Amino acid sequence: MADTIFGKIIAGEIPCHRVYEDDRVLAFLDINPLTRGHTLVVPKEPAATLDQLSDESAAALGRVLPRICRAVMAATGVREYNVLENNGPGAHQAVFHVHFHIIPRPGPNEGLGLRWAARSLDQGEAVELVKLITTALQKAP
Ligand code: AMP
Repeated sequence: MADTIFGKIIAGEIPCHRVYEDDRVLAFLDINPLTRGHTLVVPKEPAATLDQLSDESAAALGRVLPRICRAVMAATGVREYNVLENNGPGAHQAVFHVHFHIIPRPGPNEGLGLRWAARSLDQGEAVELVKLITTALQKAP
């Protein structure tokens, strides 16, 4: 098990407020919630970032993530929410074990703050990117 706080939670070495567990996935309440019901969904596999996760763990996460979202929304009575997954310190990752945040958004000034500085997609750049990404997918699916 990787030496992170989530590895220790999965190993049962430190406690958590568990809401879901199966062979591959654990979900528990975030200890510093952005809003009421803020929940973390974590693969038991000790991958630091999403790109390092096995297909098996990814499938297990994908299977239960919507179900846990539904349960958090039912429990909080909130209908809108963000699912966030940070990869790398520059992308605000603090715990280097993959985890999805489910963050209820009860109102416009509560929950996840976002700066979405979008620009238009350049057509030439799009063509080049499609080539680069599809080639990368063929090399290392
Ligand atoms: P991130 O910035 O995506 O790596 O988020 C890490 C999250 O883990 C933060 O929201 C923390 O509040 C949360 N966290 C850290 N330690 C614990 C813990 N022991 N139990 C529950 N959540 C934790």
